[in-house]
Amino acid sequence: MKESELRERTRVLLDEVHPDDEGVSRVDFRSAQFDHGLALVHFPEGLGGFGLSPKLQAVVNEEIQSHAKTFYENLVVNPIGIGMGAPVVLTYGSEEQKRTLIKRIYTGEDIWCQMFSEPSAGSDVAGLSTRAVRDGDDWVLNGQKVWTTLAHVSKWGMLLARTNPDVPKHDGLSYFLLDMESPGVDVRPLYQITAEAEFNEVFLNDVRIPHEQMLGAEGQGWRVAITTLMNERSALGGGSSRKGGGPVSVLTRILAESGAQRSPAEQAILEDKATQLYIRAELLRLTTQRAKATQRSGNPGPEGSVGKLAQAEIYKDVWETCVAALGDDGLLYEPGYELRRPTGDFRGTGESSAEKHILQAKYQLLRSQANSIEGGTSEIMRNILGERVLGLPGEPRVDKEIAWKDVPRG
Ligand SMILES: Cc1cc2nc3c(=O)[nH]c(=O)nc-3n(C[C@H](O)[C@H](O)[C@H](O)COP(=O)(O)OP(=O)(O)OC[C@H]3O[C@@H](n4cnc5c(N)ncnc54)[C@H](O)[C@@H]3O)c2cc1C
Repeated sequence: MKESELRERTRVLLDEVHPDDEGVSRVDFRSAQFDHGLALVHFPEGLGGFGLSPKLQAVVNEEIQSHAKTFYENLVVNPIGIGMGAPVVLTYGSEEQKRTLIKRIYTGEDIWCQMFSEPSAGSDVAGLSTRAVRDGDDWVLNGQKVWTTLAHVSKWGMLLARTNPDVPKHDGLSYFLLDMESPGVDVRPLYQITAEAEFNEVFLNDVRIPHEQMLGAEGQGWRVAITTLMNERSALGGGSSRKGGGPVSVLTRILAESGAQRSPAEQAILEDKATQLYIRAELLRLTTQRAKATQRSGNPGPEGSVGKLAQAEIYKDVWETCVAALGDDGLLYEPGYELRRPTGDFRGTGESSAEKHILQAKYQLLRSQANSIEGGTSEIMRNILGERVLGLPGEPRVDKEIAWKDVPRG
């Protein structure tokens, strides 16, 4: 399908249902978008797309944004569901699961979370301890997950658990879809440096999951988890779609507005740094575009780690430079430092105001520290790229052949 046809189809959708129209809710609009095949264009027909290259989704999004005042951003509604849940269900789910789950993910009716990390298993997630034991048609789960983003508002969790401790760690895992409203699921907030609790610890006490909610076969959970993680890294490393857009645009604005407060020498140093960051951000944008252009429909590969690694490091530097440019004022955060759950749409403090970009920079300086940890740390991204993309020798893995239960652990 040509780009022009996709634009035409998007205009037909907008003629039928417009997000700015009174009485049209976000769910109404996104539901119609899904039915028109314009939600996830790389998904098959009938499941939100047309089996096209994922890069063409940007054409639809641009077209909607240029004709609508309503803020429209593809992932913000349900980042984990859309970025990871939908592709995993598409790859491993039954026909029934695809039909019932994917659309509700896209509309945001069902929020999803990812339940991999545990207190002693983050980078080494395959070493996790949460146990699932078969009991008739159900599995009974006990254990603890941590850093579970959005668990407090989620309907479904993508959960990795150990179903066989007698084999090496990767072979004894299975992957479940957990209904977060099930008895025995206890979600507790964890507050971050930003004062928000985006994520949680989740305790599982004799939680029952029906066998049909296992994705992939018993013992094949690691394969399903890898699909999830590749999609996560690809979603996290997307960069900005517009040249000079995203965080770099905030830096440019702050530098221009605050220049009078600095000596010419200080300004020249900051401008030099900003130029370097602009170039790095542009390289990231073009690399991401190139990766999307070569990717057809289907799951991304380990190359997705390039964007994830580069974006995490660039964004941290950009926000740090923004706050440096704000001078002493950059050190002030917000009165009261009130602990809260995030509101969802604008991640950061403050209402819409002329100073929103300044509030955003201060908030993001804190939030961006997580960019090089969430979805796998930068060190782990470098390991993946070294081993799986460049073909360098692997790290020594002493527990690879040993039954999980025999691996010494603290
Ligand atoms: C904001 C945020 C949101 C998150 N959301 C979720 C979520 O929704 N669901 C979920 O399951 N998890 C989530 N996580 C958890 C995240 O995936 C883990 O924090 C991450 O994988 C690192 O694991 P860890 O914290 O246990 O650190 P560790 O694995 O203990 O790592 C500690 C340090 O050692 C380094 N290290 C570890 N192994 C190696 C190695 N082999 N080579 C070199 N260096 C190494 C790491 O890079 C790191 O610097 C989230 C984390 C953050 C910060």
